[in-house]
Amino acid sequence: MKDEISRATSAAGRVRAIAVTGTHLVENARRRHGTYPVATAALGRALVGAVLLAQALIKAPDRLTLRLLGDGPIGAVITDADALGNVRGYVLEPHVALPLKANGKLDVGRAVGREGSISVARTTQDAGPYSSAVRLVSGEIGEDIASYLTQSEQIPSAVSLGVLLRSTGSVEGAGGVLLQVLPGGEEYALTLEGRVRELGPVSELVARGAGASDLLRAILGDLPDFQAAPTSAPYLRCTCSRARARHSLVLLGPNTLAELVQDGEAELSCHFCGRTYRYGPEELERMRKESSQLI
Ligand SMILES: [Zn+2]
Repeated sequence: MKDEISRATSAAGRVRAIAVTGTHLVENARRRHGTYPVATAALGRALVGAVLLAQALIKAPDRLTLRLLGDGPIGAVITDADALGNVRGYVLEPHVALPLKANGKLDVGRAVGREGSISVARTTQDAGPYSSAVRLVSGEIGEDIASYLTQSEQIPSAVSLGVLLRSTGSVEGAGGVLLQVLPGGEEYALTLEGRVRELGPVSELVARGAGASDLLRAILGDLPDFQAAPTSAPYLRCTCSRARARHSLVLLGPNTLAELVQDGEAELSCHFCGRTYRYGPEELERMRKESSQLI
């Protein structure tokens, strides 16, 4: 099954749902970051969550950054996405191991932590940067995103995110749904949570072969005027480049660059994708000169 993004409305456009299937996306992220199971689940939920948020809140070419800063051993979960389905992310500590919960599930809430904040920052071309944060509810990420949308964006929302792993640690199914009441649909607000609960675990549905439009039909298909838009696809894609990494080194200033010239080499690694950029002494010397011209 390919990864998909799909959107639909029901009840004459008063209820909206967005669904993402991201088994390949999350498996790619797991391999790239070498995450242990509970960190794979946390990162995977956040990646899918960021794709859903970007679909709901921004338009191309803007970007959105979702940060979960809890007091758990993972430290922080950082993801960012654009409106076209491109997403990247990392957890501060990928090698976290925790006992399973009593129900046999990975304890994402404990890994992220229950004390802390969830924030969403947007860079918009029209209105400049905008950022807002609320307290974490459970650290389980889906509930936290729903709480953010309801409190901070004033859009009654329910979110379900899931990552199912094989015993080897690889990803068997990953996905999420976001359900929202739009203006005029207040009568449906109280039913959102129930609809998400009745759907069942998204990761298991995806592992059994459900596509994004199947999830939407299951969650909204009983309401009148069900209308689904064409599907697109989410991708794990980083925006870093040698030129951007170089620019951030130039911004360190001539004194720091002079020290790097002495060291003979500088190396910069991207947190999001793990790519490493290396600069030799001659290039560092050119950067030092450029940097001194900036002052
Ligand atoms: Zn990168």
